[in-house]
Amino acid sequence: MLHTTIAGSLPKPSWLAEPETLWAPWRVPRESLAQAQRDAVLIALKEQEAAGIDVVTDGEQSRQHFVHGFLERLEGIDFGKRVTIGIRADRYKAEVPTVTGPITRRAPVHLDEVRWARANTERRLKFTIPGPMTIVDTLADEHYRDRARLALAFARVINEEARELVAAGLDVLQLDEPAFNVYMDDVAAWGIEALHRATDGLRCRTAVHICYGYGIQANVDWKKTLGAEWRQYERTFPLLAKSRIDQVSLECANSRVPLELLELLRGKDVMAGVIDVATREVETPEQVAETIRRVLRHVEPARLLPCTNCGMVPLPREVARAKLQALGAGARLVRHELARS
Ligand code: ZN
Repeated sequence: MLHTTIAGSLPKPSWLAEPETLWAPWRVPRESLAQAQRDAVLIALKEQEAAGIDVVTDGEQSRQHFVHGFLERLEGIDFGKRVTIGIRADRYKAEVPTVTGPITRRAPVHLDEVRWARANTERRLKFTIPGPMTIVDTLADEHYRDRARLALAFARVINEEARELVAAGLDVLQLDEPAFNVYMDDVAAWGIEALHRATDGLRCRTAVHICYGYGIQANVDWKKTLGAEWRQYERTFPLLAKSRIDQVSLECANSRVPLELLELLRGKDVMAGVIDVATREVETPEQVAETIRRVLRHVEPARLLPCTNCGMVPLPREVARAKLQALGAGARLVRHELARS
């Protein structure tokens, strides 16, 4: 009950990549990079275990960015042809590669990473892959010229990849879809269909992570424009409740999401964000427990997974470590209360 997990990423050690930066350049020469990434994964796993996190990830230590890390090894994308575009409905600019041909996957992308993590933890293992809509929104496209068609092409290669990851011992596949909070019409038109194709036939739990983004300034500014109540989830949760996806995440800590929207997710596991990643202030276990208690008014304990609001990659490492510990400790507090009552 109240099994804890994280959205996905943790900060990388400063010997591996530039700290507190998105798209941080590697600091290790190419010939020793894979070994350094593996060492960083070991640390990420052990820190989660020490904090009492139940469903752990590799901390996304082996990818430069949560979207492009997956795309780098696919065919059909020209990383030499980079253009700067506005992403997430022009919320911020990003330099992105261009789709120039059919999307195919010649070889596994993340299989070695999952094998390494699997060999080094007894805990349940989750792995994150960007969702089709978020991929499409983080690319330029000169080939498909249709977002839905391109998303379904990515869904196919995600599914190929995911089947191999599950065979390697993965327990939870999480698709990251922050774009679901931006293009709500597209979620209904083709976003859910793309998730279904990406997760078709997988013998593991499937999850979708929908957030308001990393705790970077562009997102902090955007949130200020969203009004007193953030009701984006109101459009997508009823669609997800009817979907075949097992688990859905949302931001709760310091967010303006009305928690009664959780009632729309009946029948699903809920990954409730009880750690705010947009502040360096570390929650106390009691604050975490209080957020969990508020969520429990709307979600059965057996269905609730306390989680971070989003990835912690841009945070200082010691802050992220302390937040992990607060997450574990806050969940333990509420578990004890539930056991006594
Ligand atoms: Zn996120």
